[in-house]
Amino acid sequence: MKDFDRLLENSNKVFLENFKPEVWFGRCIFISWYCDVGTCKFCFRATQKDRIKFASHARRSVPSILTEALLAKKLGWELEFLTGGYRILPFPELVKIAELVSKVYGEKVWLNLGALKKEELEAFRPYVKGIVSSIEAINPELHDRICPNKPIGPYEEMFSYAEGFKKSMTIVIGLGEKREDFELLAKFIEKHKLDRITFYALKPVKGSPYTHGPDSKDYAWWIAQTRIRFPKLQIIAGTTYKRVMCEDDCDTKDEIQFILRAGANAVTKFPATKQFGSIAAKKIEQDVKNAGRKFISTLTKMPDIDWCAEVDSLDIDDVLKEKLRHVLKDYLKNMEKVSNEGA
Ligand code: SF4
Repeated sequence: MKDFDRLLENSNKVFLENFKPEVWFGRCIFISWYCDVGTCKFCFRATQKDRIKFASHARRSVPSILTEALLAKKLGWELEFLTGGYRILPFPELVKIAELVSKVYGEKVWLNLGALKKEELEAFRPYVKGIVSSIEAINPELHDRICPNKPIGPYEEMFSYAEGFKKSMTIVIGLGEKREDFELLAKFIEKHKLDRITFYALKPVKGSPYTHGPDSKDYAWWIAQTRIRFPKLQIIAGTTYKRVMCEDDCDTKDEIQFILRAGANAVTKFPATKQFGSIAAKKIEQDVKNAGRKFISTLTKMPDIDWCAEVDSLDIDDVLKEKLRHVLKDYLKNMEKVSNEGA
């Protein structure tokens, strides 16, 4: 048996000893497309920063944010986190958005809005169950090269006073990390007693120095090592449309099966509303089955729901309900169109 197969056999065994054989989809909700830091070398938002003259124009409308929260609730998606917008929206507005999203989703949410101060965390506490630090690269030298204006220190500090909140981090594979850096990652998880980690495979963006994402086996290697070392940690793994739908002979076509057998609890980052019911969405659900797991979300079947009644039952004001109804209608129409094309 090859080393990689043996590794996945071990990680899958550890997973099944600690979790039900289930997988969910994690949906991240963006508040805006603008980032005030805007200098991380791999990031799409960094390539856009100079093009966005008015940061306020790059924000999502609240009804559109709430539409995604409602869809997530009804399609069995977990809210991966609420993100984007830190330092471009007045702070009370961010808190209000977190409150509304948690009301619509029906539970407290995870937040990924940069390194928040203690008093800021307290303001979010009624609506937020966990905080995420976007670490991106764990090797300090690599990190400082890739994210020169987003130091790790303030995130570590935030973890130190985040009592009562769950804690998570994100890391991107493919930025130039070495396998020996895994020890640094393991130490970070241990030091901050993390409850969760989200892995992403680098998505090379035009205008950045990167042209390739990582090989799926390399990506799965990191997840498998993490699963074996931390049997109970919640592990989320990102994938993209391109990685799912590559040509037959490409190295990412089995990615979903690899990352699940490596020990991921959930899949994220796939553009689930744009691709709802598409061939790519169907492939993900089939790959989940092939990996021996049950998908407890859906990317393909629209539940038979009276959406107007759902919106009516929300604990938000009537003006917002009316706006949400309009945005939701457009989302559902587009999702149905893509589903019909994928049928
Ligand atoms: S990685 Fe995060 S902080 Fe860095 S430019 Fe992108 S959005 Fe901003």
